[in-house]
Amino acid sequence: MGREARRSRGHHELMRVHLCGVRGSTPAPGSQFLRYGGHTSCVALAHDGSAPTLILDTGTGVRLVPELLGGAAFNGTILYSHLHWDHFHGLPFFHGGEPEGLRARVLFPEPVPAIDYPVALLERAMSPPHFPITPRQLAGDWQFAVLAEGEHEIEGFSILAREIPHRGGRTFGYRISDGAGTVTYMPDHGSTQLGPGADGLGEYHPAALQLARDADWLIHDATLLREELTTPEGNHGHSAAEYVVALAARAGAAKAVLFHHAPSRTDDELDALAERLPDAIVAAQGSVLER
Ligand SMILES: [Zn+2]
Ligand SMILES: [Zn+2]
Repeated sequence: MGREARRSRGHHELMRVHLCGVRGSTPAPGSQFLRYGGHTSCVALAHDGSAPTLILDTGTGVRLVPELLGGAAFNGTILYSHLHWDHFHGLPFFHGGEPEGLRARVLFPEPVPAIDYPVALLERAMSPPHFPITPRQLAGDWQFAVLAEGEHEIEGFSILAREIPHRGGRTFGYRISDGAGTVTYMPDHGSTQLGPGADGLGEYHPAALQLARDADWLIHDATLLREELTTPEGNHGHSAAEYVVALAARAGAAKAVLFHHAPSRTDDELDALAERLPDAIVAAQGSVLER
């Protein structure tokens, strides 16, 4: 089978998942955060050892993507889990190599009720007086559209989008496969929004289980620790690290990847978390998952 035929059928031989930003809520600069990194949420996916064509969220970590492009302009899709600042703020600072030739399609969860002009929603956060330019003024060829729940084929990836509980704005989790690997991305998920569940960590609800089912990696909100859980309001729409491990086990996901670390969580505290949950990967900025 030729390479093109393989591509068109979504079968690839290698999936590479670059963790460009692993922090939640707000960036965490400083000497206590150097090893795990302070950039906010951004993950870049690539097929078969080539440059990334799919970017999940543009926290400040998106500034690490150009060095993965080998000097070429970005040509692909930026897919948002939701539009909270920590997942969006890096967008105007992503140059994707030389803007000459840059082509980016931006997709974000379809608002309810539906809207006619998707870019207007982005302009609320990115336009004067909040920011000097609007999304339409970014250099390069940019398109903006919304994504509905359900199954999609995007950049050679088969993607399932499901709404998951969070707080303040519609949020999607994604299950992304390319024939070589399957990664589930739920950077912000309020597991206790639907109740404490049997173990106090939250509900293992159908959308979360479906998204995580048999994944190679479950990249998931681990803003909190079990002992930090309070009320759903106090948890601010986030989950505990222990929930991620339990969800992975229930869904048959091979590896829990603890992500969206609290901005106050130091390197030493994340080392302690790795010791506490030895079956999980504690996401570190700049690391790569490969299969
Ligand atoms: Zn977040
Ligand atoms: Zn959020």
